[in-house]
Amino acid sequence: MEMLSTLPSVRGPAEWFTGVVHFDVIAPGTHARGKVNAVHFAPGARTAWHRHAHGQTLHVTEGVGLTGTRDGRVVTIRPGDTVWCPPGEEHWHGAAPDRFMTHLAIWDGLAEGEDGPETEWGEHVTDAEYGGTTS
Ligand code: MN
Repeated sequence: MEMLSTLPSVRGPAEWFTGVVHFDVIAPGTHARGKVNAVHFAPGARTAWHRHAHGQTLHVTEGVGLTGTRDGRVVTIRPGDTVWCPPGEEHWHGAAPDRFMTHLAIWDGLAEGEDGPETEWGEHVTDAEYGGTTS
């Protein structure tokens, strides 16, 4: 057995996020391909546009968040909600403008010998994209 809960929280790098984001690594993907992070977004904070080679499941545990896709749709996500982001689909996720939000991010790393990237990062989400019509 190996205790992993002593790993420090990590500040989300500015090239991948807008605003203040920290994440805690729950499953680092070193023993299996599956990875899990708990990601904590301050109000208004969000990821940049990105896509995952093997898709990603998001499960909201606290607060109120938003997630968006390139078709302009922005969806409100709340505790207990689970969102599937299919492989290769560009998307973003983050907190609502006035609320913190925490979600679990669950995804698979690359298979042995598979060409990357595991996650492909693009440009930051503009205020106009972030403020899209919520549903
Ligand atoms: Mn994602």
